[in-house]
Amino acid sequence: MKTLQEINFKNLRALIRVDFNVPLNEKHEISDTTRIDAALPSIKKILKDGGSVVLMSHLGRPKLEFQSVKLGAEDKYSLRHLLPYLKKVLNQEVFFADDCVSEEAFSTSKSLQKGEVLLLENLRFYPEETQGDEDFAQLLAQHGHIYVNDAFGTAHRAHASTTIVAHSFAESDKCFGFLMAAEIENANKVLRSTDKPVTAILGGAKVSDKIKIIENLLDVADNIIIGGGMAYTFFKAQGGQIGNSLVEEDKTQLALEILEKAKSKNVKILLPADSLVADAFSNDANTKIALNTDIENGWMGLDIGPLAQKEFASCIMASKIILWNGPMGVFEMSKFQQGTKAIADAVAAATSNGAFSLVGGGDSVAAVNLFGYNEKVSYVSTGGGAMLEYFEGKTLPGIAAIEEI
Ligand code: AMP
Repeated sequence: MKTLQEINFKNLRALIRVDFNVPLNEKHEISDTTRIDAALPSIKKILKDGGSVVLMSHLGRPKLEFQSVKLGAEDKYSLRHLLPYLKKVLNQEVFFADDCVSEEAFSTSKSLQKGEVLLLENLRFYPEETQGDEDFAQLLAQHGHIYVNDAFGTAHRAHASTTIVAHSFAESDKCFGFLMAAEIENANKVLRSTDKPVTAILGGAKVSDKIKIIENLLDVADNIIIGGGMAYTFFKAQGGQIGNSLVEEDKTQLALEILEKAKSKNVKILLPADSLVADAFSNDANTKIALNTDIENGWMGLDIGPLAQKEFASCIMASKIILWNGPMGVFEMSKFQQGTKAIADAVAAATSNGAFSLVGGGDSVAAVNLFGYNEKVSYVSTGGGAMLEYFEGKTLPGIAAIEEI
């Protein structure tokens, strides 16, 4: 994998696709700087080499048209709001181009001196960005001698700045940034591991969202732990009484096929033996413990129960490689957090015993952060949807464009 570590950027201008899609409050202040912070090592390496940097990113999903009427660029989506923080963390001036492909933007980027930084306005103010437009991508390419992709979070999109732009650069003039390389390397530690046992923990609401991941992991994992709302479809499929728990009736056949496939591939599927059931989808509901084969009508499983926690934890503790995606219950409500917390505990303990653990994809990352476990696992992925697609076994266009595969 070619990373920016192999390139000396002295007197070169790097065009970096970063993921600066940070949340802003009503005062346009950044409420979580994680994504900017994650891009700093790549920026700093280039500046230290004596190169200059042109940063490009999207921010939010600006509406460009409403009922065929063209709308202007809305200020709340402007990357200008990021300038004070960027200047502070880089400890230097950062120039800004208020249109990413204007004459002025090009003249500013071309006159950058070594050590200087230019931030371009939101790429998605142009519909051509998400359309993956060739001409727009060629214009963007004029901003740099070298293209660096450090935006793993958008690597699953064939947008102009994430994929198409790479075609304008020779193989020697494009590479992955540090963040992107770390995401790929850590995901591959799971997908291409020779250490065993490999355990995947999958949770969340729906089986339908996780089918492709489960199928791909059947060729990778020794154990697949299934928790959260999606587990009840498996119990229903096997004739269990699941009361009012979440179920996807049209996926019961698929659930049975997955169990069969797992058996034939010698992969152990662990389903939760019991649940904390509630008489309403509410933190004030009455609760009790029930076996998942026998949940009464009027009750729904909203977290895994103590038997499941114990069994899952002992499987996790015996694992060398752990992938975790999706919570074990409705962890947003304090009454139903215990199962997810118990799994976080087990993953943290296994990690401190030498296992490699990766937490990736949306809500499990939120859960790990909520419980303060982000320092206790080996790697927390920043790329929600992109990481999920990578684990589904897909070739991500943003990666392929750099590797030219
Ligand atoms: P996902 O985005 O597929 O990872 O799903 C995450 C969501 O699943 C979270 O909002 C959880 O509240 C929800 N969830 C987890 N377990 C359950 C459950 N037993 N019943 C209903 N929703 C659940």
